[in-house]
Amino acid sequence: MGTPSPAQHVLLGDGRRHRPALFTGSHHRCLGSGRALPYSADRGKKSVNRQTLDDLKQQIPLMGYLQAHDWQPARPLSRGRWMGLCPLHQDHKPSFLVDPNKDLFFCYGCGRGGDVIRFAELYHQVKFPQALMLLRQWRGAGPLLQEVARFYGIQLHRHNEAIAYLYQRGIRSPELIEHMRIGYAPGGCLRGWLTQLGHSCSALRQAGLVTGVGYDAYVRRIVFPLEDNLYGRSLSTSAPPHRFLPGSKGGLYCWTQARSHPEVILVEGLFDYALLWQAGFQNVTCSLGTHLNARQFRQLCDGPRTVYLAFDADANGSGQQAAQCLSRSLRERGITARLVWLPDGHDPNSFFVQGGDVRQFQSLLEAAQP
Ligand SMILES: [Zn+2]
Repeated sequence: MGTPSPAQHVLLGDGRRHRPALFTGSHHRCLGSGRALPYSADRGKKSVNRQTLDDLKQQIPLMGYLQAHDWQPARPLSRGRWMGLCPLHQDHKPSFLVDPNKDLFFCYGCGRGGDVIRFAELYHQVKFPQALMLLRQWRGAGPLLQEVARFYGIQLHRHNEAIAYLYQRGIRSPELIEHMRIGYAPGGCLRGWLTQLGHSCSALRQAGLVTGVGYDAYVRRIVFPLEDNLYGRSLSTSAPPHRFLPGSKGGLYCWTQARSHPEVILVEGLFDYALLWQAGFQNVTCSLGTHLNARQFRQLCDGPRTVYLAFDADANGSGQQAAQCLSRSLRERGITARLVWLPDGHDPNSFFVQGGDVRQFQSLLEAAQP
C-alpha cells in the first residue's frame, strides 16, 4: 500500500480539498491568517483594525523577529523555506518550519503555527493584546538594537583594550565572539553614528542608549546583545560593573539552543556562559543575575529536565543561597535541580580562567547534590 500519492490526498475526505503540503494554499487552518475578521482584542471591547495588524506584520518580518530571539535556521527547504528547532517546545530534531516569503511558521512537533503575532503570543506566553503591545515596542527598539549590536561588534576589533579584557576573562575563540555577538562600546561615537543614519536623538534617549544630556550611555563596556536589551560590562573599576537598558532583561540567554538538552546548566553571568560554551557545553544558559524573572522561571519548567545550578561561590554565600532557594521552587514544579559546588570564591568563569578543564567541571556536575 504505502503512502498515498499527493493526487490521492487531494481527493481524500468528504470532497473538501486536503493539502498535505503546508503553505500551498492561502492559509492553513492552524495559521493566524485564518482568524475571523476583524481581530478582536479583549472580548471585542476594543476591536483592532485589520489594516493596523497587516501594517504591523509587514514592519516585523517573522524571520527577523525569530532570529532576534535567537532562533537559528538549521536547514533550507524548497521555495526559500527553512527548518529549525522549535522555540516553543522542547525540540530535539528540527521540526519548526518557517516560510519567510509568507511570514508564517508551523511546528510539526507541537502542531502550532501562525504569523508573527501568534508567535509572540506563544513565545512570550501572553494574550493577544499584550502580544501586540510587545511587538509594537519591539518595532520601535528592536531594529535599533540590531544596528547598535552591529556597530559595537565592529568596534570590538578596533580597540585593543577590549580584546585584552576578553582575553583576561578567558574569551579567546572567534566562534564564541560570533555566537554571542560580543561587542565593545568605547563611548562617544554611537550617538553620532545613529543620528547620521536618521535615528532621532529622542528615540535614542527613549531606548536608553543616550543619556539625558546626550552622551552615549555605554562607555568602555563589553556589550552582549540580549533578545530585547543590551548588557554592558564595564572595563573601568570606577563605574558600576553591570548595565542594562531600561526594561526587562528578557528570558533565559540562548534558551532555544539550551532547552533541547535533557540536562541544562544555569549560570549567573554571561562570562560564565561564555567559558562553558567555549569549553564545549552547549547545554548552558544564563539568568543574568541570581534572581530569575517569571518568564525565565517558566522557561526552566517548560519540559522535563535536570537543571544544574552553577551560581557563584561568593564569600558571603549569596549565590549558593539563591541557588538553594531556586532549587526548592524548581522541585515544587517537578523539575530535578542539582547544586553545583564550585571551589570557594569561584564562579564558572574564574574556574576555567584559572586552569580548570572540562573534565574537572564534569566531575563537579557529577558531584552535584539535589
Ligand atoms: Zn513546536
